[in-house]
Amino acid sequence: FGGLRAFDPEIADVLLSELGRIRSGLQLIASENLSSPEVLTALGSTLSNKYAEGYPGRRYYGGCSEVDKAEQLAIDRCKALFDADHANVQAHSGASANQAVYGAFLKPGEKILAMSLPHGGHLTHGTKVSFSGKWFDAVHYGVHPETEDVDYDEMERLAKEHRPKVICAGGSAIPRLIDFERIRAIADEVGAIFWVDAAHFIGLVAGKAIPSPVPFADVVTFTTHKVLRGPRSGALVCKAEHAAALDKAIFPMMQGGPQMHTIAAKAVNFKECASPEYADYTRRVITNSQALAAGLAERGIRPTTGGTDTHLALLDLQGVGVTGKDAEARADAAGIVLNKNAIPNDPQKPGIASGVRVGTPCVTTQGMGEAEMATIAELIHVAVTQGDADPEHAVSQQVRAGVDELVTAFPAYPR
Ligand code: PLP
Repeated sequence: FGGLRAFDPEIADVLLSELGRIRSGLQLIASENLSSPEVLTALGSTLSNKYAEGYPGRRYYGGCSEVDKAEQLAIDRCKALFDADHANVQAHSGASANQAVYGAFLKPGEKILAMSLPHGGHLTHGTKVSFSGKWFDAVHYGVHPETEDVDYDEMERLAKEHRPKVICAGGSAIPRLIDFERIRAIADEVGAIFWVDAAHFIGLVAGKAIPSPVPFADVVTFTTHKVLRGPRSGALVCKAEHAAALDKAIFPMMQGGPQMHTIAAKAVNFKECASPEYADYTRRVITNSQALAAGLAERGIRPTTGGTDTHLALLDLQGVGVTGKDAEARADAAGIVLNKNAIPNDPQKPGIASGVRVGTPCVTTQGMGEAEMATIAELIHVAVTQGDADPEHAVSQQVRAGVDELVTAFPAYPR
């Protein structure tokens, strides 16, 4: 690091001040985590230099003997971790892995049925601003108005009416377990491919803390940097019969050269995820998010669906009369990082929103448990209901003192 500091002090300062930012606050963004120094070492390695278009043993470049070993390890470990027929570890991100599904199974203009964005889906599930909605015909299901959980009856009705080529399950703000068996049956009834975008919860599957979609789905795409705690990237696993189509869709259809340093970091991460410590971590991520949601519910901040089975809770702030945008700004001013989020049937515009999303992957990595979640619920409640977007405000300062105590006792990247 000394060399970088001497050559480019401006960027060195950014790296250090970002570490300082992580250490000084409570990171409650549900899609973030703190990957290990071992993963970061692989990411910052000379494997970044290597062009390796193709797949192990079948490259379009010379000199791939060493990166081949890294990619084969990543593939083998990924298949073993998820008990999958086939794995492709080259996607640059979750969105790239999703693109490959469209590339493999759909022609432009063909139909996909997926969760709507305002009800918890993802941009790449057919929204108009994304390639997926511009080039494909997307039909969306949502959550049931009473349960606020995925409306499987609506999904079935729409599947029968529209007969999509692909049915997608998963999203970015779904606090409950998804009924993969039911969706498999719906997909079979209409002859559709069943795709699970497991970006958010795949880490919980890796730790065997929740049921796996792999036995049911044709293809499961995911990011590797959320609960999974690997490098910022993507991957997919699929049934053997789809392996060739999905490999071709990743390369050469959607991507060029794979990022071999990131693939090595994925291999490291998959090895970490196979350990009993990681399995224990994933169980604690869930008990923590349940404790946090319960603590907030007691204080009048209602978790949609009444709670959570996963690493995240979606909180409806209408009961305390604060918008998601204000809540995010007030929490931020006190050192609590969370994000505003639309809730189902939100009366506010997406940029304002009536909810916030909180997740426990980071704070659990730091070793916090249920007692700390009760404290965090209280801190969030005070910041959101009495606080201010000004960090100098007395309430921001008071909450910040509570945050300081927690992050001192449970440091991120301990020295
Ligand atoms: N799919 C889901 C469900 C996600 O939540 C995300 C990211 O948050 C993605 C896909 C896209 O992942 P990336 O940001 O790596 O492209």
